[in-house]
Amino acid sequence: MNSKFFSTKEIAPHTTAIIGLGNELCYLVEGKTKALLIDTLIGVGNLRSFCRELTDLPINLVNTHGHVDHTGGNFDFDECYIHPHDIPLIYEPESLRIGYVKNAIKKSGKDIVILESDFTVAVPMKTLPVYDGFVFDLGERTIEVIAVPGHTAGTIVLLDRGTRIVFSGDACNVNTLLFLPHATSIETYSESLIHLKKFQPFFDYMWGGHSLRAVPKSIIDEALELCGDIIAGTDDAVESEYLGRPCLYGKKKDADFRRLDGKMANIAYSKDKIHKRLSDEGKPQ
Ligand SMILES: [Zn+2]
Repeated sequence: MNSKFFSTKEIAPHTTAIIGLGNELCYLVEGKTKALLIDTLIGVGNLRSFCRELTDLPINLVNTHGHVDHTGGNFDFDECYIHPHDIPLIYEPESLRIGYVKNAIKKSGKDIVILESDFTVAVPMKTLPVYDGFVFDLGERTIEVIAVPGHTAGTIVLLDRGTRIVFSGDACNVNTLLFLPHATSIETYSESLIHLKKFQPFFDYMWGGHSLRAVPKSIIDEALELCGDIIAGTDDAVESEYLGRPCLYGKKKDADFRRLDGKMANIAYSKDKIHKRLSDEGKPQ
């Protein structure tokens, strides 16, 4: 189904990816009695109304983390489940969202005019805590929360054992960003990946927040190996820039984030956030 702001793709039975204007992704997962919306895109257009056309079931909302390209549409809903460490992020300045959308439209070459009134308005909203081990019961389908602090201190991923899918947000992919202000150290992220690995027998692929192509679960092992290299100082440490900020890439890559050695996982980090520190516990620096 398509609208001016959203398009969809069914990625598994009763499991729909919803794609936003900037190709950012969220997922609608339906059980027998409830649906779970995983993230809400950048917040242009009314995502709640769009979801209502996709399902008649009551919808719970959960965020993989607090970044605005995953929570912008939250404000159309009455409440959201989110890890407490990331609650402040959903209220970051709206200019971030506007810049994101403008950039995305320019890049895509799409002929779309966005009005100010198309943006959701950030209002104080009810947040419900999720944490490692929390389970959503959707009726003959359960979705489990796994905490993976790294990209942000409150990052979680969601495991659906039935379809053998993990909905991973920005937790681990070909361009995992660990240099932004709310990211943890590489050491903490490495521990998170070891935790996530315990669940590897129960899923095959991870669907993330920015690519309509799942990544195989082996990317976790590659990311873990790369964390070890970064901590040991034996990675490529390629000086680079992303989102206008300087960072280092753990492995050499091409312009499309393909690693030159053929592996998938890559990490953008900064030298001062390699070793563990108190700020890893969710406080912005
Ligand atoms: Zn993010």
